[in-house]
Parts: sequence; C-alpha cells; structure tokens
Amino acid sequence: MPLSPGTLYVVATPIGHLGDITVRALDVLRQVDLIAAEDTRHCRKLLAHYDIPTPTTALHEHNERGKIPELLEKLKRGLTLALVSDAGTPLISDPGYPLISAALTESLRVMPIPGPCAAITALSAAGLPTDRFTFEGFPPRQSSARRHFFDKLKSEPRTLILYESSHRIEACLKDMAEVFPPGRHLVIAKELTKIHERFISSPVAQAPILLKQSPELMKGEFVLLLEGASTTKNDDLNPEQRRILHLLLTECSLKTAVMLAEKITGARKKSLYQEALNQLQPKN
Ligand code: SAM
Repeated sequence: MPLSPGTLYVVATPIGHLGDITVRALDVLRQVDLIAAEDTRHCRKLLAHYDIPTPTTALHEHNERGKIPELLEKLKRGLTLALVSDAGTPLISDPGYPLISAALTESLRVMPIPGPCAAITALSAAGLPTDRFTFEGFPPRQSSARRHFFDKLKSEPRTLILYESSHRIEACLKDMAEVFPPGRHLVIAKELTKIHERFISSPVAQAPILLKQSPELMKGEFVLLLEGASTTKNDDLNPEQRRILHLLLTECSLKTAVMLAEKITGARKKSLYQEALNQLQPKN
C-alpha cells in the first residue's frame, strides 16, 4: 500500500521472536524515507533480517527533544518517517511521546502500525481478569519509593501490570510481598516469545521464595501481573488459612467449615465466612 506523504508511522516491532512483526509493519519500514530508532544498531539487526535497506537515525530519551525540530521539518517537507523502539510498541515505557505530541500540535499526521506489546502479550495468557486492568510501567528503583508506590495501589481492584528488569526483580518482588496482602495472586511472565518463556504463578508472598529457589528464573525480562483487590475476597487471610478452609468446604457444610477453620487457623470468623462465600461462588 502506498504511504501518505508527510506521515509519521508509529511501528510496533517484536518483543523477542523476530517473526512477531506484521506484514504491514514490514511494508511501512521498507517504504518510509527514514526510520527514527531508539537504538540504530538494534534496529538494523531487525531490518537486516528482513532485508530492508531504509536509513535509520537515533531517537532516544537523551536526544529526543533536540531532534524533534529536524524530524518535524522532514515531515513538513512531505517525507515519511517511522518511529520504532527496541522492542514492542513505541511510547509504552519507551521514547516517542514528545515527538508524537509535537507532531500532533503541528497538525501533522500520525499513524499507528499496531503489533506486539509485552504488557498485553503477558495479560493475554496470564489467567488473570482482563476486563479491566491498569498498566503502571516500571516501579520506582529505590525501595522506599517503590513500597510507597505499591502502597497506593493496594486497594486497586483492576489487574495490575508492571514492567521490571532482571537487575531489580528480586528486590521488587520482596517489596511486593511485604506490601500486598499475602494471598494476592501474582503472575511473573518472563522472556515472552523467547526460548526461555515462562509464566510463574503464585501467591505474592511466595514469589520471592520461588525465585530464590531457582536463581536461573531471575534472568531475562519480566512483566508482573497482580490480581486486583477484590471487593468480596478477604485479604486478611493468608494462603494457608484459605487452603484449610477450601479443604473443609469440600467435606463439610459452610457453617461447619467456617467453625472448624476458625478453630484450626485462629483466623477471624467474619473473614472466613466471607472467604467461604467467595470460594463457593461459581467462577465465570
Ligand atoms: N515498548 C515495550 C512494549 O511495548 O512492551 C516495552 C519497553 S520497556 C523499555 C522494556 C520492558 O518491557 C522490559 O524491562 C520488560 O519489563 C518488558 N518486556 C519487553 N520485552 C519482554 C519480553 N519478551 N518478556 C517479558 N517482558 C518484556
């Protein structure tokens, strides 16, 4: 398809597997006059794989603002540009927002060429509710700021999606385990679309222990997905108290199960009763 002159194309590229690029994205990358890439060397590997000779120019967080006038000038002259980041959808925890916003301010045309995004890829296979979710990008790097950040998200009812790097995954999971209620379900989506892709599910309190037991799990790239705060689920029960209640509910009436669980676990009767109702509710 011929490109529209003076258009800036925002092109999604693979997050791992090089096959995960759309036919349209390849077509656009082949036809544009110039590709603005977060890392030109990285981008050239993708272009070489698909035999695309289009020239590239660097556009990363350190030079983006200074580079905008030059790129807008090219668009105004009717040239076509593509914006790509190292992986996935540009602007999603990646450079590009200042450029897109400046182009739109100047009434230039911006067209998205959709494709992979690690957050959505992870969400599609994590098994957590997808009807409503919140993407919070990378948590702060410093532990005290990170805990504060998590604390503000504690009562968020939507599925929470975060990005994290291998340098901070251990510390991040430790802080999550300390701030969020222990039984909250966490999915660690690791190395998506790559050879070592893994989805690791556990109560948030167990996650740091799981990773410590298998240090090889700490390598790579991660999306963290946390079950939202339930309005019905009682967060003051720990996973063991829930498990005991669950076992009792399979053998006894609700009333007896709650009464026995209270005696065995010492948990509050009200919390156990609420959890029992929740567990007995049919899941859709
Ligand atoms: N723009 C990208 C997108 O659309 O997903 C995200 C770029 S952000 C700088 C990089 C982070 O995305 C990584 O640290 C990791 O949290 C996540 N990520 C990217 N690729 C991934 C993959 N293959 N598996 C798991 N997480 C990934």
